[in-house]
Amino acid sequence: MLAFSDLRTAAYCPRQLWYARKHDDRAPPDRVDAVREVATRYHELLDAETDTGQPDPLADAPIEAPPGTWRERVERVREREPRFRDLDRPAATDVFLAGRECHGVASKVLPDPPLPSLVSPGRPPEQGVWEPHAVWAVAAAKALAWERERRVDEAVVEYPAYGVVRRVRLTTRKKAAYRSAIREVRELDAPPERLDDTAKCDPCRFANECGVATRTLRSRLAER
Ligand code: SF4
Repeated sequence: MLAFSDLRTAAYCPRQLWYARKHDDRAPPDRVDAVREVATRYHELLDAETDTGQPDPLADAPIEAPPGTWRERVERVREREPRFRDLDRPAATDVFLAGRECHGVASKVLPDPPLPSLVSPGRPPEQGVWEPHAVWAVAAAKALAWERERRVDEAVVEYPAYGVVRRVRLTTRKKAAYRSAIREVRELDAPPERLDDTAKCDPCRFANECGVATRTLRSRLAER
């Protein structure tokens, strides 16, 4: 049985998964918990009376957008996302799901029809979700479908630090990315090739060991 987190990492970079396994370093960063909490306080942070002289609770929340922008975005989600109320006041959080091929924790599971939601502490792309998150969404939807013995064709990915919530449909392309990640994890028995994508390598915690030139190193070399 494969872990959601391994699939997600393999979709980002199979070599990163190799290092994560070697160092047994697969714990999520601490920041995840603080941001995940924001994803259960949308109504409170959105509707706070900011003109009463009381401190704005958003000022202490771990958000990465100006408070006005954050509120505009979440207000738009509240208007357009039909499951917003369930997302905002989830009946079930940190739900362990075990499917036919993989298992892991969904940040939220909305009831009837069942829909998994996954909370990312990071920044969203301009549109849709990052490829590793699409793979994570497919894995969670498939595991939930397996457990409940019914179709689950969608998932949600939330980027609460930015006030962004996106639906993910299980399209043919996304399911193909999921299958590719499954193969990568199953066949990982030697260090895979390095990526040719410095944008992905720059934030990688294994960049030194991997031997790629990160932005910091590149700029240091350019100064010589
Ligand atoms: S530095 Fe780049 S190639 Fe190396 S493990 Fe990290 S993401 Fe993968």
